[in-house]
Amino acid sequence: MSAPTALIELQTDAAALRAVTTDRSGWPGAVIPEAVFRPTEIAEVQQLIAWAHATGTAVVARGAGSGLAGAAVGLEGAVILDLSGLDRILDLDPDEQLARVQPGVITAELDAAASAHGLMYAPDPGSVGISTIGGNIATNAGGLRGAKYGVTRDHVLALDVVLADGTLVRVGRDTIKGVTGYDLVGLFTGSEGTLGIIVGATVRLIPRPVRTATAAAFFADVSTAAHAVTAITRSGARPAVLELVDGPTLGAIDLLEGTDLRSRGEAFLLIQTDGFGAEEELAVIVEAISELVTHVETATDAAASDRLLFARRRALPALEALGRALIEDIAVPRSRLVEAVERIGAIAAEEGVRIFVFGHAGDGNLHPIIVTEGATDAVIPPAAQSAADRIFALALELGGTITAEHGVGRLKREWARRELGADVHGLQLRLRALFDPQGILNPGSSL
Ligand SMILES: Cc1cc2nc3c(=O)[nH]c(=O)nc-3n(C[C@H](O)[C@H](O)[C@H](O)COP(=O)(O)OP(=O)(O)OC[C@H]3O[C@@H](n4cnc5c(N)ncnc54)[C@H](O)[C@@H]3O)c2cc1C
Repeated sequence: MSAPTALIELQTDAAALRAVTTDRSGWPGAVIPEAVFRPTEIAEVQQLIAWAHATGTAVVARGAGSGLAGAAVGLEGAVILDLSGLDRILDLDPDEQLARVQPGVITAELDAAASAHGLMYAPDPGSVGISTIGGNIATNAGGLRGAKYGVTRDHVLALDVVLADGTLVRVGRDTIKGVTGYDLVGLFTGSEGTLGIIVGATVRLIPRPVRTATAAAFFADVSTAAHAVTAITRSGARPAVLELVDGPTLGAIDLLEGTDLRSRGEAFLLIQTDGFGAEEELAVIVEAISELVTHVETATDAAASDRLLFARRRALPALEALGRALIEDIAVPRSRLVEAVERIGAIAAEEGVRIFVFGHAGDGNLHPIIVTEGATDAVIPPAAQSAADRIFALALELGGTITAEHGVGRLKREWARRELGADVHGLQLRLRALFDPQGILNPGSSL
């Protein structure tokens, strides 16, 4: 492959290509791409895309490659557009409470920069320390603080996007409100690199809560913990964090981190309230679940609370350490959470596979993780695939979705078609063709 212009240097050495070939999903179909390009200027992105447009070359945008849907992966003949070098926070405006950032900024670094001004970037995926803002926007990432603060889309005001012919456009605006024209920010958010390349974003910042209060609640089983989520929802309190972890996942975290969480119960809710009334609100929650809980601990200081949040963030790496993890990401109406966890348990027993469950329970978002023997990219055994299909079917039956936050990627295309139905799926394909008539942006992924 020859360089598109004298200004653009494509990397083709084996180590560089290997580094961008897979994401964290363990999707086994990734192949070594043709080249990788790591721009440091927006003009370089435009040049690459204009060249790809002229030559019909496939381009796969990539942030940190922490995705769990097989989306930012190697494709035969494709250029991987690694945006991690566009990594500057351009402006952080405490009066307007917003930041203008490049896509390669690591999410936790933006939050830390906001913190210096008493502000917070609220979206907080478990991968906050490694994933990029661009990847978060392209997947509409959720996270631990979603119970109160929502998902990435709720915090994006404007985007700079390089379209599929190399044109640079700006959509949205730097004001809190604004409804002129269609919501193209909403359309690009969650578009998984199929409609354009995000090269800049204006994101909202909010006042950093003056205090937080955290509780670790343990239960006899995961079903009772799911009942407790309903009790918390009914209590009128609004936790910022409401995370569920089942006993087997606690055991895996203990194994990886040397903690002793599982000795305290067979299921765990991590609950955090924030703001001026944090302690009072947490007390309401603790009272609401008092008849369900076997053991509850309140974190007394920031370090203890950070340890609990860290332990929760280690859930996925802990399960990845046990074998080949097939990572699912369903959401159900919160009133169906109990039924969902119970039926996932039944599916595990019937299929004879190990299914671990954790997730953002406050959002009705569960991550059932099917762990089988073998390496990360080993072929998925039929029983595991059957269990995954039954979990997707369950999510739809309960009125939910097959992917709450990780995206469709290459892993869930068939089930996305089923969820959307023929008419809406067709409409979405026509939209995609409008933005990318040649189909050069992440072909074979998403819809
Ligand atoms: C331990 C762990 C915990 C996680 N926890 C969560 C969680 O709590 N919530 C959650 O939502 N996800 C979670 N994830 C998944 C993942 O981190 C998110 O999907 C994240 O948003 C991906 O960001 P990234 O920078 O790694 O993007 P990548 O994986 O590189 O890319 C993801 C998608 O975005 C596209 N893309 C990336 N950058 C751009 C760009 N600039 N323009 C256009 N398209 C682009 C890619 O083409 C691809 O389709 C977790 C992952 C891990 C490994």
